[in-house]
Amino acid sequence: MLKAFLDHHTHSLFSWDSQCPIEDMIASARRQDLGGFILTDHLEVHPGDRGYGYYDHEKRFEAFETARELAPDLRLRFGIEVTHHPKHVDEIKTFLRSRRFSYVLGAVHDIGWEEVPKFMERAEKEGDDLRESLDPYFLDCLKLVESNLYDGLAHLDFPKRYMKPRPAADFFAQNYERIIRSVLTACLDMGVFLEVNTAPYRVGIQEPYPGWPILALYRRLGGREVVLSSDAHRPEDLATAFEAVVKELSRMGITVRNAG
Ligand SMILES: [Zn+2]
Ligand SMILES: [Zn+2]
Repeated sequence: MLKAFLDHHTHSLFSWDSQCPIEDMIASARRQDLGGFILTDHLEVHPGDRGYGYYDHEKRFEAFETARELAPDLRLRFGIEVTHHPKHVDEIKTFLRSRRFSYVLGAVHDIGWEEVPKFMERAEKEGDDLRESLDPYFLDCLKLVESNLYDGLAHLDFPKRYMKPRPAADFFAQNYERIIRSVLTACLDMGVFLEVNTAPYRVGIQEPYPGWPILALYRRLGGREVVLSSDAHRPEDLATAFEAVVKELSRMGITVRNAG
């Protein structure tokens, strides 16, 4: 059943936070009878981010091509996940202009200049009201989409992973409805794929990024297509919960597309 799908967001040892050889990801795709995957290793452009300076394009491209030649049975695509910072748009543009990717995924990993997990830890200690303080995160998502640099928007309600206690299912759709609506509308207007990312299932959250209420809003706004991803950093993470998520999306009238 997974043969029709590509996993649109995967990492290998060419990402600062993964040790997975590309060949191991390939073996996992074969085991699961997945159609293939897009390799989206991290690029960090902000000197303060972990992983800054780690990305090695030439070595990575060479390793990818070698692996791809050994896997003609799979659809393998060369992509990238760029951590978007509105203040570093020029560096990102310059980087992307001189290199070729089948799929460029944009992601917000920070709130202001602070990484999401750190922000959430501090917010918890200081008793921040999270019904208001996450605005900068979603605003950066909006700027990401409007920048016209990306094919896809990664893990839209990513901060939920670090919220304690776990927020109610409709927390974001309730408290950030306006800004999220703008992000989704911008995706539709700009032709940027909304990613449905199944990573939360690996940490005990029974819904993807973005959660079902946000996907229902997307559908109400006219969204009919998404791309599917697991954000795998290890072979066993590939295609997490894909069957269940595809089924639920189809029930909502949303089709899973392949990009790239
Ligand atoms: Zn990410
Ligand atoms: Zn990722």
